[in-house]
Amino acid sequence: MIPLEAPADAPDYVARAERVLPGGASGSWRSYDMQVVRRTSGAHIWTADGTRYIDHILAWGTVVIGHSDHRVNRAVFAAAEQCDLTTLGPQQGEVEVAERICSVMPSAQNVAFCVSGTEATLHAVQLARAATGRTKLLKFHGSYHGWHDMLAVGVRAAPGREDRTDLRATESVGIHPAAAADVVVVEWNDAAGLAEAFAAHGPELAAAFCEPYVQSYGCTPAEPGFLEQLRELCTASGTLLVFDEVKTAFRHHLGGYQAICGVIPDITTFSKALGNGYSVGGLAGRRDLMAGFQAGHARGAVMDGTSNANPYVMAAATATFDLLADGGISHMAALGERMREGLRREIAAAGIPACVTGTGGSWALYMRPTPPRNYAEALTQDNARMVAYNQRLRALGIMEPLVPLADRRLCVSSTEDDVDETLAAAGRAMRAIV
Ligand code: PMP
Repeated sequence: MIPLEAPADAPDYVARAERVLPGGASGSWRSYDMQVVRRTSGAHIWTADGTRYIDHILAWGTVVIGHSDHRVNRAVFAAAEQCDLTTLGPQQGEVEVAERICSVMPSAQNVAFCVSGTEATLHAVQLARAATGRTKLLKFHGSYHGWHDMLAVGVRAAPGREDRTDLRATESVGIHPAAAADVVVVEWNDAAGLAEAFAAHGPELAAAFCEPYVQSYGCTPAEPGFLEQLRELCTASGTLLVFDEVKTAFRHHLGGYQAICGVIPDITTFSKALGNGYSVGGLAGRRDLMAGFQAGHARGAVMDGTSNANPYVMAAATATFDLLADGGISHMAALGERMREGLRREIAAAGIPACVTGTGGSWALYMRPTPPRNYAEALTQDNARMVAYNQRLRALGIMEPLVPLADRRLCVSSTEDDVDETLAAAGRAMRAIV
């Protein structure tokens, strides 16, 4: 193990960052929580002052095997030594990973890779518009599908923004009003609202986007029949159904959440858990639809990207896939259950009005007595109490997001001890905020 040495300039690091990076980090959300992490290993991270944390952020789900995993890293180095990026035809690893996804993901007859979740949803929009000749899109309130203009409407606003209850609020200033105007936003699990939206706009919709298990503002499953209703409305109106599985694919099931819920989308977008920290994104879908990406296709959408399917990331994906298939997913699910059950016990013991939701190795805690059905309900939790709880946990060595509405997760390297240590800290934090 590499010894942790705080860099000589550690105290000065944030000040240096603020001089050369906007807000001190490359990303609005990153500058919201200015930790300087100096070492990572498995489920743990160490900040510059030497403090060890059990990490339940895990790079928002990208780190699925564990931090600095030597098995994944070795595969990456070996690929780079053997044959690096050429951008000529397919790369060997690209074919192998595509074959594996097609063999397990119900919607996947063809797969194409890009480098991030945002790119994947952007390509899905263009593919759907090209295939249908329509422009409008439907999405659900609070679900995040990336930062591009196409879908950044009715989405959680950046920290400090006050307009979160507004279904038409955009994620960022600078989103083109015409792009925002083309998006119909519906509350999650609102069957009547969904039916009305399709009655009003169905024949104009190119695609309906959803997270089949919402993880944008915690963990909020679809109520029984809701995904089936969405599937039927899409089929009846000629709208393509896109499952944004950027957070759910590979983590809960190798075939994505669609393999669990049994509803099959036309197009799937995926990203995070495939690369264990190496940047990968992609789309899967029916062969006839995905054919739209072929050069010269009459109703095609251009898919391009110099770094798409680069061999290092494909090697990371192969190693990650192997480790997830080899008991990794069931390990996370068993620990996730232990975490959720334990948290419910701690809530009851502390006597606070809170609840726990989740699936597999992911969970969310809400400071309200019952699980929210959608974003509007999630926003009614006691945010101040939630942030106070998160800050207490942080002080007790548990790295959970400081924002009030967020999912948490485990990785394949997480242990029962990590869960039990988290539960002990959670109990202390809850008793402190009663
Ligand atoms: N879709 C969903 C459901 C996401 O959770 C995210 C990222 N959190 C994205 C898309 C965008 O992915 P990326 O950050 O890789 O661009």
